[in-house]
Amino acid sequence: MDPQTVFCHSPTCPARGQIGRGNIGVHSREDRRYICHVCKTTFSSSKGTAFYRLRTSQDVVVLVVTLLAFGCPLQAIVVAFGLDERTVINWQKRSGKHCQQVHQHLVERPRDLGQVQGDEIRGKVQGGIVWMAMGLQVSTRLWLGGVLSTSRDTALITILMQKVRACALCRPLLFCMDGCQAYVKAIRSVFREAIHTGTAGRPHLRPWDGIFMAQVVKQYAGKRLVAIQRRLVQGSAAQVQALLQRTQGGGTINTAYIERLNATFRACIFALVRRGRALARQTTTLHTSMYLVGTVYNFCTDHRSLRVAILLPAGRRHWVRRTPAIAAGITDHRWTVKDLLSFQVPLPRWAPPKKRGKHSRATQALIQQWCS
Ligand SMILES: [Zn+2]
Repeated sequence: MDPQTVFCHSPTCPARGQIGRGNIGVHSREDRRYICHVCKTTFSSSKGTAFYRLRTSQDVVVLVVTLLAFGCPLQAIVVAFGLDERTVINWQKRSGKHCQQVHQHLVERPRDLGQVQGDEIRGKVQGGIVWMAMGLQVSTRLWLGGVLSTSRDTALITILMQKVRACALCRPLLFCMDGCQAYVKAIRSVFREAIHTGTAGRPHLRPWDGIFMAQVVKQYAGKRLVAIQRRLVQGSAAQVQALLQRTQGGGTINTAYIERLNATFRACIFALVRRGRALARQTTTLHTSMYLVGTVYNFCTDHRSLRVAILLPAGRRHWVRRTPAIAAGITDHRWTVKDLLSFQVPLPRWAPPKKRGKHSRATQALIQQWCS
């Protein structure tokens, strides 16, 4: 137990979320509990992880969650481990929610995306179908997040684009997608910046510079692909070609990267299997599954096309494998599923209570100590 690597989880504590400030001590080695000397609360070493308050050993939970993240059928796990079905579903839900927090904390940060591809997959839930829309950064193969909805409309794509925007810096950005018109509308409405002039009323919204859009429309005769049409919706051919060169090493406008990722999701989530019998009982199950599969893909899975060669003497080469998170510079090593489930997302820093006039001396001392 190392108190220098943990932080206080109490939402009202002025020292919440801060690591290595000397406010945490060991309360009990036997019960694996820490104490915060600022707010005097004690907390378990598993607080903030997916293992919090679970009675089963962490190794069994990690094993079961790993199998779920790679598409092992729930019934197989129930039989093999002798667990109750509800227990396994509960672990899947809590690990999915944990992965969503990790994703929001580490992936949803502004970065130069270059090229983003978006697509939707059709899934089955009890009583109908559901659409899962997802985004991918092409150069690092980083999964940028996904959204679920019962209809494939502008509202769904707009929420997806808001997620992509949370990951984007205002730099040249190319979107490649299918012929769905909702993308064009959603991208134009989301990628805008408010210009504050100090006058009353809603500020004027100015579109981002350097947003390019391209569509890939596939035409089928029966089940056979007969033609592919590539359309430029926004931007010149030269600008788009320059971004394609930077993000995928040249080539043509395509949606191949997101389609490959869709195949991974289809293989790992039973409700997305084409012509399968399985369906998800609730949309929330599909939502937690999506975050579990997506985050394990980003942080724990080496991507063959992301490997880099290191030249050794005598012309030999050593290949270094990388995960999408390594390629995006989020981490420097491949995480295990246990690393992912035990990652503690830090709480945002404490903000002093709002009040008119001066704060008391005691509060001023806390502000000076913990807000600087
Ligand atoms: Zn505290």
